[in-house]
Amino acid sequence: PLYLDYCASTPLHPRVFQTMLDSARHCYANPSSVHDMGFKARLRVEESREKIARLLQVQPAEIIFTSGATESNNLAILGVIRAWMKKTGRTPHLIMSEIEHSSVYQCGKQLVEQGAEVSFLPVNRNGTVDPTSVKDALQANTVLVSVMHVNNETGAVQPIGEIAEVLRSMPDVLFHVDGVQGFGKIPVELEPIDLYTLSGHKIGGPKGIGLLVAKEYIELEPLMYGGEQEQGVRPGTTNVPAVLGLTEAIATALEEREEKAAYLTLLHKSAYSGLAAIPELVINSPEPPDSSPHIINFSYPKKGVTSAMMISMLGKRGIMVSSQSACSSKAKQSRVLMAMTQDEAISSSSIRLSFHEDVKLADVEYLVASIEQTVGELKVKNKFDLL
Ligand code: PMP
Repeated sequence: PLYLDYCASTPLHPRVFQTMLDSARHCYANPSSVHDMGFKARLRVEESREKIARLLQVQPAEIIFTSGATESNNLAILGVIRAWMKKTGRTPHLIMSEIEHSSVYQCGKQLVEQGAEVSFLPVNRNGTVDPTSVKDALQANTVLVSVMHVNNETGAVQPIGEIAEVLRSMPDVLFHVDGVQGFGKIPVELEPIDLYTLSGHKIGGPKGIGLLVAKEYIELEPLMYGGEQEQGVRPGTTNVPAVLGLTEAIATALEEREEKAAYLTLLHKSAYSGLAAIPELVINSPEPPDSSPHIINFSYPKKGVTSAMMISMLGKRGIMVSSQSACSSKAKQSRVLMAMTQDEAISSSSIRLSFHEDVKLADVEYLVASIEQTVGELKVKNKFDLL
């Protein structure tokens, strides 16, 4: 089998696995307990927080461990907006792109229902947001701008540095970045970013853990109540092995980033040129450095062809891919591709390939040949040649 769905989840890095095994065995006390084993567990958590803070160049108190990026994104957006509304009693305005992950986008939709004003920014044909559109959307009541680093369907790298520049002169407007798909692939500078989301399982860490960096001046209303953990904004018993595993994953992702990115770029080039040679296939991703090297998205926009059909046909050849993110895999059409192309045939037949350092060049050759055969079979099946 050939797994090419590393955007949906990655295997544990061997170093992460070992760390988690050791801590799951020995470090089972509740880190909030005030006895010796509790103190020791607490110490491991706080050492982890300090290590991550050093690696991300932020303060330890600015790191909030969560259950994953979905929660981090919800906490960033709802937490900031609710705190602001509580303080000011005014109607808030938010800006986000049309291609945000559903855990950001649906927060925006919910807030609209609750009376907030939200500007959803369009993207160009390459799937990127124009920084001047952020500037043009700003209002007197704008509280937050949320734009992801790397899009999880197309790999398109968003101009977060330029957006941060636009916002630099506006200290009252906070900038949130969903860094899930960019981290460990593309360098990121957290200095001009106010809130930053990471997920463990996308970078060789465990599932069910992520973090939100929230700079110390930020007021967050908790999403849940019931405990004083995580600076009082995220209650619940700390998952010590997951925290230690996440820490190891972040460290290895940064240590190995350059080498992996160079290799992934080779895979991307090979896949890109192979796919570009297949007639009528449309590649929806830009090439690196405009795309992260671990993602390529393409469509076969022919009548009757759906993503599900192609996923199943590639599945019969042992190849596992996705169309959209796993969180929206029930939707028939990709919202991201609709925003980019306004083309239903492209948006309902898209396939996302996502790579990892375990993938071999020969795997990419097999992949391209299999896609070519699949397209050939679809042509015969639907008698496209006769139409
Ligand atoms: N943001 C992006 C860009 C993602 O790709 C994902 C995973 N599909 C998430 C957020 C949600 O991550 P998690 O699984 O940790 O909740």
